[in-house]
Order: sequence, then C-alpha cells, then structure tokens
Amino acid sequence: MKQEFTYLDHNATTPLRPNAMAAMSVVLSEVGNPSSIHSFGRSARKHVEDARKKIADTLNVSSGQVFFNSGATEGNNTILKGFSGKKIFISATEHSSVIDAGVTCDLIPVHPSGLIDMDAFQKMVTDHPPALVSVMLVNNETGVIQHVAEISKIAKSVGALVHCDAVQAYGRITFTRESLGVDFLTLSSHKIGGPQGVGALIVSAGTTLPKLLEGGGQERRSRAGTENTAGITGFGAAAVEAVASIPEFQKLASFRDMIEADISKSPRVKIYGQNAPRVANTICCTVDGITSDTLLMAFDIEGIAISSGSACSSGTVKISHVLKAMGMDDKKTAAALRISLGHTTTTQDIEQFIKVWNILRTRLLKD
Ligand code: PLP
Repeated sequence: MKQEFTYLDHNATTPLRPNAMAAMSVVLSEVGNPSSIHSFGRSARKHVEDARKKIADTLNVSSGQVFFNSGATEGNNTILKGFSGKKIFISATEHSSVIDAGVTCDLIPVHPSGLIDMDAFQKMVTDHPPALVSVMLVNNETGVIQHVAEISKIAKSVGALVHCDAVQAYGRITFTRESLGVDFLTLSSHKIGGPQGVGALIVSAGTTLPKLLEGGGQERRSRAGTENTAGITGFGAAAVEAVASIPEFQKLASFRDMIEADISKSPRVKIYGQNAPRVANTICCTVDGITSDTLLMAFDIEGIAISSGSACSSGTVKISHVLKAMGMDDKKTAAALRISLGHTTTTQDIEQFIKVWNILRTRLLKD
C-alpha cells in the first residue's frame, strides 16, 4: 500500500497481519498436498490441522466442527443451496452472497434502526415454520449487530436450523457458536487480517454440513478440493491475533465518533445504524445532493480509500438494498458512503479524513 494513502475500507478487506504473512511464507516455501501420505504431505496436513485447532479454540468448538473453504461467499452459498426447495427465512439486510445465492427465500423485515422486526419474525415463524433461518451477526454496510441468540431461540422453537454469517463480527465482538445458539457459522479470513480466498464454516455437533463441491474426500468428505494450505495457515494465525485483540478493536469507536461528529456538522449528512448496537469501526452515511461515486472519486484523488456500501456493490452504481430495507428512498441510498476502520488505523488517518472531508465539503457541497 502507498505510504501516503489513507485506507478506510477495512470491511471490504483489511491488511494482512504480519504474523499471518510470516506463517504463510514458511508454508509457501514448502511442498506437499495435505492428502498425501508421505512426509511432505503429513507436514502440510499438520499446518492445516494446527490452523483448524486455532480457529476452533477461538469459538469454543472442537476441530471436527471446522470446515475450510474458499471464503464466505462459498460458505453462505453452501448453506443456502443446501436448503434449496425448503422454506428459508433470511433478513432483508443479508450480504449479497446470501440474498442473491439463487435460492428462493422469504425476507424478514428490519426496522429503520437496521434491527430485525421481531414481531414480524415471530409471526412468520408461527405461520410457516421454516427449515432454515439465516441472519448475519454484523451488517457489512452499517455495522449493526443483530440479536442472533434471540432470533435463534425463536427459530429453534419450531425446529428450524440456524445459519449466521459472522464475517464482520469475527475478531470484532466476542461470541462463540454456543452463545449464538446457531448450527452454521460463516467466517472469512481476509476480513480479520488473513489472506483472501480462504474461509470456514463452523457446524454444531451432530449437524451435517451440506455439500457444495463434489469430487474429493477433503474436509472429511464435506468439501472437495485440495486445501489452500498457506492460506489456511495465515487464516489460523490471523484468527488468534484478531480475537485476542477484540478489546483493542473497541478503541476504534472513539475514532468513529470523531468522524461522525465532524461529518454530521453538514446538514446534508445522515448517519445510519446509530440507534442500534453497532461494531466500533463502521460509519454508514448518505450525503444529500451528491452521488456516492462522485464523492468516492474525489476522496480517492485526495488519497483516501472509502467505499459505497458493500464491496461487491462498489464499482457499479447499485442501490444499497440494506438502506432500502431500513426504509430509505432510492435517491438517498444512491448516495451511501461507508467508512470502515481497522487494526492499522491511526490518529493521522482520522485527521487526514476529516481534513479532506472539509475541503470536499467546501468544494462540492458548498454548505
Ligand atoms: N458476508 C459478509 C457480511 C461480507 O461482508 C462479505 C464480504 O464482503 C462476504 C460475506 C463475502 O466474503 P468473501 O469475500 O470471503 O467471499
């Protein structure tokens, strides 16, 4: 990354942690397929199993409940497609890898705060008991934390299995599989300082993981394909450090509040998610009278990387389905900005953002 650049797009991807990089470079200099029975293969297998144990320990599950894959898109698709044809309820603010997985689902509405409408959910569950309920723990656009444990209890009362996309929560807030009471948990390595292209599904004891990929016996016959040994090793190293530094992560709230206090001086700015529990690092706002693309480009020219809503939506002008579900009109959602902080964010980054914001406010907003 260029030194002079201010990177505030950690919900899209966060920089690789030095300990993950070091662990990976050891593995990258070796050879061996974890499925081979010779010594090279056994050494690769040991790297994979060590990482599995590290991740299992952070969530208080056994190693046998951790299944590696290529990331959260695969994890979410595996679960959703696994229940295709059955009744599935998902929240209206899920990531596109759930909402657009190509599987018919009923949407659970959310309040303007971003939190699930529990009365509506209870009625849906009572009227048409589902086979699966899928609700994310932390929203990638707003940082809003859902009451997953409560949602899970209601789902379980009618015998449903529960899936939780915990990608934006892992290493940011404290939870275990058991504290959430869910059957499937999706994780992604690159959101916590591990490499891209690696993830995991955590499965409750005694529950069968649906199969997305066939044709090999890897991951206890649940996910075919040679394991990404170096990536998995980096993921394991990053997980240990990210979870251990959850208390440190909470300090980002003071940076977030500094930015929010400054941008909300403009009468055109509206901030979302403030009326719900939120993670410490995410700011989601709209700026009246200007599109997010114009602002993103202006920030980029000034050396600041931020995003418009979710990473998968950026690059194309796409209305945020999350803000829409929270009751915003199309005009407002087209102007959504996401500023997300992370483990490398410094006071200088925040000062630089505020300085540039005020320059752009005078130049573009003229307010
Ligand atoms: N779920 C959430 C909440 C995300 O934020 C993302 C990434 O943006 C994903 C799933 C997809 O993750 P991956 O990049 O590992 O496929």
